[in-house]
Amino acid sequence: MDKEITSVNLHFAGSNKPAGGVKAALIDMDGVLYDSMKNHTAAWFRMATELGIDCTRNEFYAYEGMTGAATINILFRRAYGRDASPEEAKALYARKVQYFIEMGEPALMPGATQMLSTLRDSGITCVLVTGSGQHSILDRISHDYPGIFAPGMRVTALDVTHGKPDPEPYLKGLQLAACQPSEAIVIENAPLGVLAGHRAGCFTVGVTTGPIPEAEMTGAGADIVYSSMPEFAQKLPTLINAFKQ
Ligand code: MG
Repeated sequence: MDKEITSVNLHFAGSNKPAGGVKAALIDMDGVLYDSMKNHTAAWFRMATELGIDCTRNEFYAYEGMTGAATINILFRRAYGRDASPEEAKALYARKVQYFIEMGEPALMPGATQMLSTLRDSGITCVLVTGSGQHSILDRISHDYPGIFAPGMRVTALDVTHGKPDPEPYLKGLQLAACQPSEAIVIENAPLGVLAGHRAGCFTVGVTTGPIPEAEMTGAGADIVYSSMPEFAQKLPTLINAFKQ
């Protein structure tokens, strides 16, 4: 028995043991379905440095999942000691989006198609739960991953008041799937997203697809962590079966 299944069994020993297997998977988009975080962090870094704000590209990996305005406020408080006005935040986020689009379409995450096919073939309802409101990617989902997400099975930045790490996006995803937290798994790549899934009461899978150390996912509440998407895709059938026991 490998270490991942041992950790699943440890989790099941608690009070949150799912009954009757997994009914829904609540799936993040950036860094899970698309290898897009490199472009997002580059776009944030370009926008911020053009403003003269001292920052590193890697810090933007840690902010993944926050709303655009929340990320801009981190920069503003550091540089100016205040929040951005709504107008400033809107304009600067639009600039970041433009820089992201200029870098071209990000590639599909290797292993994501296999992961989604396994979920679908297991009869698990797939719900997209993303902090993104960028139509440049959202509009591609049904083309890139056909037959996975039924119409309406998505929660985006446009649907929530509070971004991750607030549990609201995942709680809304549970509503769409008509599931209890104990009937769903969350699939995330970023600590704030993991925290949101954990706070929503779901079994939360962390998949390392960027430079964030696995320990940060565990620290945020991940019930299990995989070192890559291909590894998760390969081991997902075992995980699904473990939930049935
Ligand atoms: Mg993500």
